Amino acid sequence: MTGEAGPALLLCCDLDRTVIPNGADEESPMARPLFRELAARPEVLLAYVSGRHIALIDEAIAEYGLPVPDYAVGDVGTTIYRRDEDDWLPVIEWAREIGGDWGTLRHADIVEHLSQIDGIVLQPPDRQNLHKLSFFVDLEHEISPLLTLIRERLANLGIRFSLIWSVDEAAGMGLLDVLPASATKLHAVEFLARRLSIDDSRLVFAGDSGNDLPVLCSGHQAVLVRNAAHEVRDAAVKALEEQGMRDLLYIARGDFMGMNGNYCAGVLEGVRHFIPEAGEWLGEVRA
Ligand SMILES: [Mg+2]
Repeated sequence: MTGEAGPALLLCCDLDRTVIPNGADEESPMARPLFRELAARPEVLLAYVSGRHIALIDEAIAEYGLPVPDYAVGDVGTTIYRRDEDDWLPVIEWAREIGGDWGTLRHADIVEHLSQIDGIVLQPPDRQNLHKLSFFVDLEHEISPLLTLIRERLANLGIRFSLIWSVDEAAGMGLLDVLPASATKLHAVEFLARRLSIDDSRLVFAGDSGNDLPVLCSGHQAVLVRNAAHEVRDAAVKALEEQGMRDLLYIARGDFMGMNGNYCAGVLEGVRHFIPEAGEWLGEVRA
């Protein structure tokens, strides 16, 4: 940090329905302009932590006028990109960090091992990377035995992996990703904090849904936006209460600068809760 900026603050945000207002709830008109203002502060390091592929992160930034972050965790957590001028540069230390899960095996070795399985087809090369195998899955097949078979095959290789299964309704197709087990949002957030020498008191994560729960309940300062589902809220509160860490989760309620607490408004409200000077940065008038 140079100039008069105070100590850095690392703000890690989920994208869909956290920063991007693409849920059913209404967005306050000032939410995104103020979020852009926060991101422009010299103290603030911004990271998007999303399941999206990097091209879809770019698309969201353009479509919704989001601030370009300093870092983006993309490709279902398998790649961390650092922003350099107009480029995304992969952070190779992250590849090393998660690559250990697969030992000496490479993408091609694992593909080879799954190649005889009926009902899955490798997606095009631009959907693959060193640490992500992506398949199309024929929905005519019974999914549960298919996934069991794939799990068995991968377990036989002795690798640590996770399977991410989803359905592309529009295309009528199943999508399956095979990833290193440690390519998670929580691991990515902790990796970034370590890399950037960010103290726990200067780290804030914001999210909205089930796949954010491991970070929301990790004991790092975390914000749940107001538009989050009740089940997510209840699960997070329960997990944190059990660990005596309830005060490390802030649930937005909509009392910051006249905004409703949904999406970016909730992120800002939570940041102000943990980092009080953020209110001054944004010109908050307090009674
Ligand atoms: Mg989300």
